[in-house]
Amino acid sequence: MPNEGEKNLKRYPLLPLRDVIIFPHMVVPLFVGREKSISALESASKKDNELFLVTQKDASVLNPDRGDIYDIGTVVNIIQMLRLPDNTVKVLIEGKYRARLESLENGSDGNYATVSPFEDVIESKVNLEAVIRSIKGIFEQYVKLNKRIPPELLMSISSITDPSRLADIIVAHLSMKIPEKQEILEAVNVEKRLHLLLEKMQGEIEIINVEKRIRTRVKSQMEKSQKEYYLNEQMNAIQRELGQKDDGKTDIQELEDKLENKKMPDEAKEKTQKEIKKLKSMSPMSAEAAVVRNYIDWMVNLPWHEFTEDDNSVDKAMDVLEKDHYGLKDVKERIVEYLAVKSLLKEGEGKGTILCLVGPPGVGKTSIAHSLADSMGRKFVRISLGGVRDESEIRGHRRTYVGAMPGKIISALKKAETSNPVILLDEIDKMSSDQRGDPASAMLEVLDPEQNKNFGDHYIEVEYDLSKVMFIMTANDLGRIPSPLKDRMEIISVSGYTPNEKLQIGKRYLLQKAIKNSGLLDYTLKVKDITMSAVIREYTKEAGVRELERMLHTIARKVAHHVVSKGVEKGKTFNVSEKQLKKYLGPKKFDKTDIENEPQVGLVNGLAWTPVGGELLHIEVVTVEGSGKTHITGKLGDVMQESVKAALSYVRSISEQLGIDAEWYNKNDLHIHVPEGATPKDGPSAGVTMVTALASAISGIKVKQNVAMTGEVTIRGRVLTIGGLKEKMLAAKQAGITEVIIPEKNKKDLQEMTDDIKDGLKIYSCSRVDEVLRLALALDNPEGFLKVVPLKVVENEQSIEVAN
Ligand code: ADP
Repeated sequence: MPNEGEKNLKRYPLLPLRDVIIFPHMVVPLFVGREKSISALESASKKDNELFLVTQKDASVLNPDRGDIYDIGTVVNIIQMLRLPDNTVKVLIEGKYRARLESLENGSDGNYATVSPFEDVIESKVNLEAVIRSIKGIFEQYVKLNKRIPPELLMSISSITDPSRLADIIVAHLSMKIPEKQEILEAVNVEKRLHLLLEKMQGEIEIINVEKRIRTRVKSQMEKSQKEYYLNEQMNAIQRELGQKDDGKTDIQELEDKLENKKMPDEAKEKTQKEIKKLKSMSPMSAEAAVVRNYIDWMVNLPWHEFTEDDNSVDKAMDVLEKDHYGLKDVKERIVEYLAVKSLLKEGEGKGTILCLVGPPGVGKTSIAHSLADSMGRKFVRISLGGVRDESEIRGHRRTYVGAMPGKIISALKKAETSNPVILLDEIDKMSSDQRGDPASAMLEVLDPEQNKNFGDHYIEVEYDLSKVMFIMTANDLGRIPSPLKDRMEIISVSGYTPNEKLQIGKRYLLQKAIKNSGLLDYTLKVKDITMSAVIREYTKEAGVRELERMLHTIARKVAHHVVSKGVEKGKTFNVSEKQLKKYLGPKKFDKTDIENEPQVGLVNGLAWTPVGGELLHIEVVTVEGSGKTHITGKLGDVMQESVKAALSYVRSISEQLGIDAEWYNKNDLHIHVPEGATPKDGPSAGVTMVTALASAISGIKVKQNVAMTGEVTIRGRVLTIGGLKEKMLAAKQAGITEVIIPEKNKKDLQEMTDDIKDGLKIYSCSRVDEVLRLALALDNPEGFLKVVPLKVVENEQSIEVAN
């Protein structure tokens, strides 16, 4: 090889290279297209097949000048040359040695370069050996990492001992940038060249490792997202299999859409959005997801801002109430007045009283409230409060509680589907409290206009505005309503119906309802008044008309059965006669057998008020030989037990007049019993009855059985007022009583009663119990009995003197 020192210049055709550097020992094919380059190839092939290859600094230059090419290139040998059909030439060359470009000339047959060849410089063989070893080691690593290099190369490399050749062969296989490769080409000092190579390879390995790391990370990320995608698809498929939407929307998307379109307070909306987000990250089959899902369902289905427009027309209200209900004049008027006041008051004004309809069952409380809602154009929902003892039934359970649900108020609103329905709080008097909290105080919050704007239900957690809701309550017994609640109420009493009223309601309303509900609109079902009255008298015993309604439904059902089984043609008329009642309703249930025909000793008919209406209350007293003890049976409450004692004291005080020896009380025992023994009874109004029963039992004087009485008694014999007179009178009549004894002070109540109630009853009013005894005991000479006191009879509001 020529020595550089001698400046052994040589002239070769020049071939500038683009993007490639040829090293000595390399055998590579080149594709040559530039005319000048092809000329250079041809010139070389004509001579000794040698030419000088040097790389362009900038590959885009078409006709490179001296300045456009590097200084050092390689002298190569053409092994083979082939002209391709597109006029390019494929040439296989082999690198021979490095050479420096000394000068360049443009010839007509291509460019020529005058070059001075290099000889490798080797300084220390020992150093070189060490570098060679590490080069081989590193190259092995590199080959393992870089899949593009065939592993066989390692074999041939390991056999190379010439360091210069080793470097040149290795570098040809490295992927490096042109300037870096050129740097190695220009490194004439072999040790320096190997070091450079080592450096570059290490850098390259580092880069490959980083690349590899990135690739694995990207790959694992890809795998993860692919896995998620796959699982999600599977989940959707499962959900679809389970009968969910065909429109491709998932349940969650539907909930989101629903929430998006829902008008609701920001707080509620945000809370629901959060829960939907939570739901998305949960396994849809998990128990927690079901809880969250349920909550979201409640939130998006609850009416938050959906209102019906109020119709406050009082005339319309009256019309609707009249249309749906017979009688109840006072009640209808009171309700219409209430409405009028409500429509005049602006929001926030007034005390915010709540209507409470009080009366026995079946008198139309619920249906009045329903009609009121209808007339106002509001939705109607009923909440039954009977038996509610737990505050959470009103306010809901917290979501942490298994099977938690919102309370009755929120549930009712969901049912109503509007935020301003009429909510009927039924049987508010049946609500009781125990250790699980006081539902009455929760109700107070519900009803208080100051607080109900921000009503808190434990389940839904966000506040709900109840101020637009109209609450109406019903109760059977005013006495059992907690007083803070009572303060908020405007009480309207609805009392029981007279037989005549029941008859009218039965024929005008209930029969029509029964016909409609039994599908008999194409037929005519007639129940004569006399038959209807018989139903009322013999098959029902109630203050309201619920039982009557049931009986009429039974009749209609039986007729419907007949129509279907016999294929009766449309338009046929069915007349139900009194005689047929047995066929339709079975044997009579009630008879006027509640009372004895003949006067009895120690048996008296009292009149009692109960939350379900008036009742005939028999008091029985028997005397037996003994030592002056008193036995009381029949579940009497404290007040009634005390009135037994008061009555006894009074009777003892008049023993002499009754002709009873004072010793009698030491030798006899008294047993007082009030059937029905299993029903608890209490209240002071049985005072007069108790006195009469004791006086009769002790004196042996019989008591008239067509007489019934009510009144509280003091131990000095005064008769005090009682309540529920109307219900008591109705019960007396129903039981077949013909004479009623009432306290003098209750006379005013008679004026408010219709003749219907009083007809057929002889009514006596008494201020003292001796008057009662004179009226009730079967005496030969009543006027002469006890002291002579004038008796008064009040009959149809006219007072008739019967004595003196
Ligand atoms: P409450 O709520 O007082 O227990 P309801 O309102 O449930 O009684 O009444 C029972 C049935 O009797 C209902 O079908 C109702 O329409 C009917 N009813 C009660 N009172 C009347 C009335 N005055 N006129 C017409 N129907 C009535």
